[in-house]
Amino acid sequence: MKNLILFGPPGSGKGTQAAKIIEKFALVHISTGDLFRYEMSNDTPLGQQAKAFMAKGELVPDSVTIAMLRNKVDAHPDAKGFIFDGFPRTITQAQALDALLSEQGSAIHALIALQVEDAEIVERIKKRGVTSGRTDDTNEAIVRNRIDVYKSETTPVYDYYAQQQKSHSIHGVGEIDEIFELISGVVESL
Ligand code: ADP
Repeated sequence: MKNLILFGPPGSGKGTQAAKIIEKFALVHISTGDLFRYEMSNDTPLGQQAKAFMAKGELVPDSVTIAMLRNKVDAHPDAKGFIFDGFPRTITQAQALDALLSEQGSAIHALIALQVEDAEIVERIKKRGVTSGRTDDTNEAIVRNRIDVYKSETTPVYDYYAQQQKSHSIHGVGEIDEIFELISGVVESL
């Protein structure tokens, strides 16, 4: 089994790279952002809970997010491995993920962080907002808040897995295929 965390600020290319990784390595992709957007578009109770937080660029509370993640993992008992995209975003989520995988006799094998500087992120998200229909992409103050939340709450997750010698950092600017080659190198080394 190979369980990976794809890590990085909003707009760092996680979704793009995740699509290529699942194709090459046959992993199950779990994106908490996509899951929340799906629940919201169906106006489910979970979607209603997440909506106000997402609209402000804040994190959805851990209790809600962890329960949703657990359901998704449990739905794939035969997976060859998972790629977690947008999760864990807090230390509490990381501890919950480790506990969940260890119950199944498994673990996280690597965290792969895409590094992209702030100015580039803001530009990319602005561009994406034109076509994505994501209201959290079109307001610069909300985008800035997401970057701040990433720095304060999410970057500690990199250090948490670095302490377990599992964190890898990759420069996320350049050709998509070149970045993917670097990621593939890490996955193949596991
Ligand atoms: P991005 O990485 O581009 O900000 P995502 O699609 O991963 O976009 O997430 C969009 C929003 O969904 C976040 O700003 C947050 O409100 C919510 N969200 C996604 N994943 C999590 C998570 N693990 N914990 C809490 N909230 C989350």
